[in-house]
Amino acid sequence: MIALTGKTALVTGAARGIGRSIAETLVACGARVAIADLDLAAAEKTAEEIGEARGFACDVSDPAAVTMLVQAVEDAFGSLDILVNNAGITKDNLMARMKDEDWDAVMNVNLRSAFVATRAAQRGMMKRRWGRIINISSVVGIMGNKGQANYSASKAGLIGLTKSSAKELASRNILVNAIAPGFIQTAMTDKLPEEARAALTAAIPMGRLGEPRDIANAVAFLASDLASYITGQVLVVDGGMVM
Ligand code: NAP
Repeated sequence: MIALTGKTALVTGAARGIGRSIAETLVACGARVAIADLDLAAAEKTAEEIGEARGFACDVSDPAAVTMLVQAVEDAFGSLDILVNNAGITKDNLMARMKDEDWDAVMNVNLRSAFVATRAAQRGMMKRRWGRIINISSVVGIMGNKGQANYSASKAGLIGLTKSSAKELASRNILVNAIAPGFIQTAMTDKLPEEARAALTAAIPMGRLGEPRDIANAVAFLASDLASYITGQVLVVDGGMVM
C-alpha cells in the first residue's frame, strides 16, 4: 500500500483528464493536493469532488503565474513535497503548415512551465531535504510523431529537463522522474478520428488504450518511499507500444 500521509502535492492541469486522476490517486494515498488549472471554477469543482484538495487558478504558460502558484500552495499547505508537471496541450500540424505561435504555445505550456515550477518548488524541497518531481512526458517524446513536431519536441525536452534536474537535486533527496504515457483515453485523444484510433490501438501489444488511472498509479509509486532510490528515469506506461 502506498502511503503519502502528511505529504502535500501540486498537480498542474488537474481539473480533468490524467491530471484529475493523478490528484484523486494522491488524495487516496493520504496526500493533500493542490489542483491547478486554467479555470478556477473547474479546479475548485474537482477539488470538492475528490476530498483533501484545493483548487487554484493558473495559466502555466505564464512564468510569473507559475512562480506565484508554487508560493500560494506553500502558503496554503505549509509545504510542497510532490510536484507533478502534467498540464499539456497539442497544436498539431505538418511542419510545413505549423505556425510559429503554435510552436511557442506548446513549448510554453508543456516545457517552460515545468522548468519554472521546478525552479520555484526546489527551494522549499531543498530546505526540507525531501522532494519528488514528476514530469508527464509522452512516448512521442521518445519516438517522434508525424504532425507533432512541436508536441514531441516539448515532450523530449521534458526528458532532458528531468535528467538535468535529477542530477542537480539528487544530493538533497529531491528525486525527479518522467512518465511517458502511450495513448490514454482522455479529451486529448478523443479528438482523434476513428480510423487513426483503430490504427493506434492495433499498434499497442495490450490491444487497448490506457486509462488515466494507469498513469496516476505510476505517479503514486514514483512519489512514494517505494521509489526512494529512483531518479532521472523515464517510466513508459503504454501497454507495450515502445520497447
Ligand atoms: P486533457 O484531457 O486535455 O487535460 C489537460 C488539462 O490541462 C485540462 O484540464 C486543461 O484545462 C489543462 N490545461 C491546458 N492548458 C493549460 C494551461 N496553460 N495552464 C493550466 N492548465 C492547462 O489532457 P490529458 O490527456 O489529461 O493530458 C495530460 C498530460 O498527459 C499532458 O501533458 C499530455 O501531453 C500528457 N499525455 C497525454 C496522453 C494521452 O494519450 N491523453 C499521452 C501522452 C501524454 P482546460 O480543460 O481548461 O483546457
